[in-house]
Amino acid sequence: MADEIQNTDAPVEAPVSAPAAAPAGDLAPRDTRDSRGRRDDGDKRKFFKRKVCHFCKSKLDVVDYKDTKLLRRFMKEGGKILPHRLSGNCTKHQRLVSLAIKRARTMALLPYKARV
Ligand SMILES: [Zn+2]
Repeated sequence: MADEIQNTDAPVEAPVSAPAAAPAGDLAPRDTRDSRGRRDDGDKRKFFKRKVCHFCKSKLDVVDYKDTKLLRRFMKEGGKILPHRLSGNCTKHQRLVSLAIKRARTMALLPYKARV
């Protein structure tokens, strides 16, 4: 008997429980991902492309300070080290890269500051 009552209620309750998370979208733009983890075609994020850490991708765990060709990819023209938000490195590898660049500078393989 109780089952019969719940069965009749079920179609009514189902739509109510589903959209519970929907109204939060206005307040928190970070939560606007859909089920596949993608964001809505949003305002600022239009030109943002998710970068993958070069070292994680190629499974390198050692950054050689003698590999200046590689290290230069993570430096600006002026000789500064790119921040990880620009280089796309993860925290761990960014630390290794910056350490390697600093070592290479000490060995005079890379400039502290490029000539302007
Ligand atoms: Zn990494």
